[in-house]
Amino acid sequence: MRKKVVAGNWKCNTTLQEGVELAKAVNKLVTEKGAADVVVVLGTPFTHIASVVDAVDTNRIGVASQNCAAEPKGAFTGEVSAAMVKSTGAKYVILGHSERREYYGETSEILNKKLALALENGLTPIYCCGEPLEIRNAGTQADYVINQLKETVFQLSEEDFGKLIIAYEPIWAIGTGVTATTEQAQEMHKAIRDAIAEKFGKQVADDTSLLYGGSCNAKNANDLFANPDVDGGLIGGASLKPDDFIQIINAY
Ligand code: PEP
Repeated sequence: MRKKVVAGNWKCNTTLQEGVELAKAVNKLVTEKGAADVVVVLGTPFTHIASVVDAVDTNRIGVASQNCAAEPKGAFTGEVSAAMVKSTGAKYVILGHSERREYYGETSEILNKKLALALENGLTPIYCCGEPLEIRNAGTQADYVINQLKETVFQLSEEDFGKLIIAYEPIWAIGTGVTATTEQAQEMHKAIRDAIAEKFGKQVADDTSLLYGGSCNAKNANDLFANPDVDGGLIGGASLKPDDFIQIINAY
């Protein structure tokens, strides 16, 4: 059975000290009143992961990196490998975020290497896909997103695909305050689930958690999560505010 998941993406925000305080505040709220059936993940900067792992109840909150290297180790100055991420106590890695694709040139080829290394190291990828505004305006968003999946995660074995969480994040909604309507979210999530069923079968599709991301907040999470194919959210800005984040966690 697929899980409900609410994952925060802190992006390049918070100092280490601020991040630990934020994690402690989220941990308090989640352990006191977080819905027990929701998997909670905090996607922190690399520098914060080990300290955040120490600061939270890891039975209740998983920690994610927001990236990992496309190479296993070696002379790649400034890179952080999947094995290093795993050794911090992180359980998840966000891969394919549109900001990485757009600002750091992450192609499907690079993402395939990262996916393989993440999986080899026992990390759960939270794999992002989503279309830019011009594709949405042209009405070809489903083809665009499913093609992103075909070039990457649909190349995995069924067993490895079954370990993933997929996040649909329309680029025009990320950090803009413009959210997909519940109908737009459901329509795309259903198209993604149907494509997974076609590739890997209905059981795998039914078991895959599909998260919505893009200006999801304490006010709109209820409506978005009420959709039958929306299994939670990948949350940017609102994950930096513990009181909003707990409302999103409890929005089912
Ligand atoms: C994100 O970057 O993954 C995201 C969904 O950001 P925001 O919630 O701020 O739109």
